[in-house]
Amino acid sequence: MKLLLVLALALNLIPAPVRYSPEKDKTCFRKEIASLEPWQQKEAYRITVKGKKVKVEAVTKEGKFRAKATLEQLKAMGELPQGTIFDYPRFRHRGIMIDESRSFKGKEFLKKQMDAMALLKLNVLHIHLDDSAGWRIESSAYPDLTAKTAWRVGRTYHEWEAGKYKFTSADDPEGYGGCYSPADLRELVAYAAEHYINIIPEIEMPGHSMEVGYAYPDVLCVLENGKRCTGAWDLCPGSEATFKLLEAVLKEVMDIFPSPYIHIGGDEATMKTWPLCVNCRRRMEEEGFTDVKQLQGYLVRRIEAFVRSRGRQIIGWDEILETGVPEEAVVQSWRGVSGGEKANAMGHEVVMSPNSHLYLNYYQDLIRKEPRAVGELTSLRHVYSYEPVAEGMDESLVLGMQGNLWCELVPTVEHAEYMLYPRAFAIAERAWSPASVRDPLEFRDRARKLVGVLRTKGYNTFDMDNESELAQSGYRTFDAFEKAKLQGSK
Ligand SMILES: [Zn+2]
Repeated sequence: MKLLLVLALALNLIPAPVRYSPEKDKTCFRKEIASLEPWQQKEAYRITVKGKKVKVEAVTKEGKFRAKATLEQLKAMGELPQGTIFDYPRFRHRGIMIDESRSFKGKEFLKKQMDAMALLKLNVLHIHLDDSAGWRIESSAYPDLTAKTAWRVGRTYHEWEAGKYKFTSADDPEGYGGCYSPADLRELVAYAAEHYINIIPEIEMPGHSMEVGYAYPDVLCVLENGKRCTGAWDLCPGSEATFKLLEAVLKEVMDIFPSPYIHIGGDEATMKTWPLCVNCRRRMEEEGFTDVKQLQGYLVRRIEAFVRSRGRQIIGWDEILETGVPEEAVVQSWRGVSGGEKANAMGHEVVMSPNSHLYLNYYQDLIRKEPRAVGELTSLRHVYSYEPVAEGMDESLVLGMQGNLWCELVPTVEHAEYMLYPRAFAIAERAWSPASVRDPLEFRDRARKLVGVLRTKGYNTFDMDNESELAQSGYRTFDAFEKAKLQGSK
């Protein structure tokens, strides 16, 4: 048994399969998957290699597609091994989030990343389509969202910030930006479907929405003297204009994206203008609210009901838990794992993307050798060490996990790939492979080989050959690393 385990790990494959045996498997495939969940059966496959003969078994086209990825990777990394590979996923949500607002990367980039995702058996692409730095999806009901905010002054997010948040028009040769037409997005949806990837669109609200107020000032709070709160970060939950805009946009989004989940953001609302606003105060009085925070709950619940009435489920960042949200809402844990644990205990389905482990905009190696980033050291090994089901959590409610690539400091497509790979490998393996597969050194060997494969395919990856000792150790500080070395040498 031990020997089989070692052999399974030795396959040049990420994510590692559930089982590899050098022998031919005599059990009937359907019998072997009978005890799995339906969503696991859909992706399960078995590959038998004997001599030059390769046999693939699966119950769906999706299962065949996953087997194809396995064969493609094994061939690219070496030889097809003789024997049987039996495989199915641990989680149904294996995702990557790309921030298209802070820097716009466009559809060719997203298609290229979906190619890599398919090779890694990742199946969710979450696109952050709007934020204060620009609205990226054309709306026929609200055309000024892109006409007025999809181009900005300042190539990078911080240049734009330093220049006091100025937008410009598409025909300004100095302008930076871009947006997706509905036709572009339908093309991406079709491409995703061919790769068995679901695209989850995110329309952020009520915070991170400065650009919306710039394009349509009637979504902004109003002071007693009648003045609008120009430049505010948050939408006004007291104004009906806000709901009219959000619902019209979400309707268009749901027409384009077949995703069962629609992400509505919900994080980091400052709520600064709400206590000063006549419309917010009126709303609070009507609803009997005593705290402005309750206005966030009001907005999220109203939008959740709207989305649910159209047969979809919302996902929101973990702040949506704080002010009451129906159990149907999926909670995405980002401020560490506690939001996910709390939501899980309350009966919500959760997606784990804690900034403690899965933020791909954080440094992946020493500050002195890396391009400017944020956060604590989040090395490949650190990402790989993450276990999404903490003690006491109900695993059946954990949809899966996701890496988030925020792009304030990631201005180019090359840079985005550099931040994604190889850390996306670790996410793929933790989300697909059994929890028992977790030898970080053995994983690193496979990751180095796969980095080589991606490089020959034209991806700009992080250079694993020059990874520092600290990053390789998985510790986040020299202090912790030195302490561990001392203890180890005792
Ligand atoms: Zn207001």
